[in-house]
Amino acid sequence: MMYGNYPPTPIQMLTDRFNGNAFFVKRDDLFPFSFGGNKARKAMLFFAEVERKSCDYVVTYGSSSSNHCRVVANLAAAKGLPCSIISPVETRTASYNTALMQFFGAEIILCQVAAVKDTIEEKLERLRHQGYKPYFIPGGGHGNLGTKAYADAYKEILHFENSNKIKFDYIFHPSGTGTTQAGLVCGQVINKDNSKVVGISIARRKPWGSQVVVDSVNSYLNSIGETGVSGESIDFVDAYVLEGYGSYNQEVVQTIRSVLIKEGIPLDTTYTGKAFWGMKEFIRESQITGMNILFIHTGGTPLFFDSLGEL
Ligand SMILES: *Cc1c(COP(=O)(O)O)cnc(C)c1O
Repeated sequence: MMYGNYPPTPIQMLTDRFNGNAFFVKRDDLFPFSFGGNKARKAMLFFAEVERKSCDYVVTYGSSSSNHCRVVANLAAAKGLPCSIISPVETRTASYNTALMQFFGAEIILCQVAAVKDTIEEKLERLRHQGYKPYFIPGGGHGNLGTKAYADAYKEILHFENSNKIKFDYIFHPSGTGTTQAGLVCGQVINKDNSKVVGISIARRKPWGSQVVVDSVNSYLNSIGETGVSGESIDFVDAYVLEGYGSYNQEVVQTIRSVLIKEGIPLDTTYTGKAFWGMKEFIRESQITGMNILFIHTGGTPLFFDSLGEL
């Protein structure tokens, strides 16, 4: 196998048959690089471009608990590239991801959240002056390359369906910057498939959150010469964001406990546990029954350990 070419992540059936549905989980948390997750899938494509453009320095942006920054720091270290992470002081809580970024030797540059844009530009400018050819990876791996990662992952889902003679009626997943959702929707459009892709928002509300998804979908589809979609075709559910990013309730905690005990699968309070809880609420409220349901486990294993104390 070529370096940078990874096998499809496993899809497993759950014992839980909540509301008379069959549940499956695509274990992108087992994507085989740096504790996996959607950020690892996306980062692979950004680093391929770093190589293609012969860049020699990587700069990105994210909070102290960012899965994206951990993966980028790891990939940069693997390729022997220096890496700087611009991080807002407002979200400066110690986490396993921070410890890993430090372990990989990334430089962490703290600034006020309002100064992020300027700090990034100044850093890139300074690096160019020093003779580097820096590459900037948008926060969370947002952008056409991040979208492509999940348009490609959609083929893994179709392949599983074909080889197991099953059709997923719904594909649920946590939606943050909307890139993962955009990629899945693109995969569906490109492959003319009709599963219902439902993003459970973990922080953003409509209409902004869903507009970002539509814009990302159309930006990618246009870049490959496909016709875009309209806003109505995006299922972005903002009913379970609670108090926004990082907030959760006791039902989320109960969901995480139950999935960990019954299925042996770790979820976290910020993304996957909150979205899994939101998915079940959505299924109950919409009276969805008798369906095949796929949940995409988007990773964040270090966050699971951060929240283990609260479980
Ligand atoms: C970033 C992240 C998400 C959100 O993905 P987006 O592509 O930004 O919507 C979901 N789950 C985990 C574990 C993440 O790290």
